[in-house]
Amino acid sequence: MTLLTGTNIVQEFNWTCPHCHHAQVVTENRFSQNFRELDISGYRDGRLGLGWRAIICANNLCRELTLSVNVQKATSGPNYTDIPVVGSTPRLVRRLIPEAASKPQPDFIPAPLREDYREACAIVDLSPKAAATLARRCLQGMIRDFCKISKRTLDLEIKALREAVDAGQAPSGVTHEAVDAIDHVRKLGNIGAHMEKDINVIVPVDAGEAGILLQLIEMLFEEWYVARHARITRLAQISMIAAEKEAARLEPAVTQMLIAPPEAEPG
Ligand SMILES: [Zn+2]
Repeated sequence: MTLLTGTNIVQEFNWTCPHCHHAQVVTENRFSQNFRELDISGYRDGRLGLGWRAIICANNLCRELTLSVNVQKATSGPNYTDIPVVGSTPRLVRRLIPEAASKPQPDFIPAPLREDYREACAIVDLSPKAAATLARRCLQGMIRDFCKISKRTLDLEIKALREAVDAGQAPSGVTHEAVDAIDHVRKLGNIGAHMEKDINVIVPVDAGEAGILLQLIEMLFEEWYVARHARITRLAQISMIAAEKEAARLEPAVTQMLIAPPEAEPG
């Protein structure tokens, strides 16, 4: 993925400010970016570079700074010695200002899903298409892990999930409404057009579309994992209370037996 290209490649681009959510075209004088190879050796994947991008919002009521950094493999190009390898997975992509908008997710959600979600939130403004790719991978991971449905493509998996829900065979907590929401997002513009391809194919979407995917993921974390955890916890509490009550019911008899004074000798 090309998050930050060489210092001299400057283009206007569409962008939505994460501070005020104002959609705008970022012009040359409103952003600055750079990517430099780090002067260190021995890294296991070869040469490493550090990039950053700063944007000032054009909305007069906002004019805030958005600052992101990325660390990824560096390579030599014909004119630059400092451009990141196209298609290489960044070692780190993070929005520093404002801090990434991901919501903290509990530990009982599998770590790879939480990681994809967090990274997608961090880069949604910097690279919506990379964020959407991570979000689709996260959605597929959830369908495979929570619903135990695994097919060749995400599109086939969503269709199989729909059939399972209609047949009443979906896991507990997977509702028609949730599958409708997934279907709705599946049919959205470019996201929809690429659902049938491998989830690793990078899709040209805007920050708005990527944001909708991330909202869907947050909703499913809540409806599937958090709700299931709450159910299990409640059931465990009910079992514990029932066990305590049973123990309390038996206890007086036992106590009485232990503390009852010996019967008086007859006579
Ligand atoms: Zn703004």
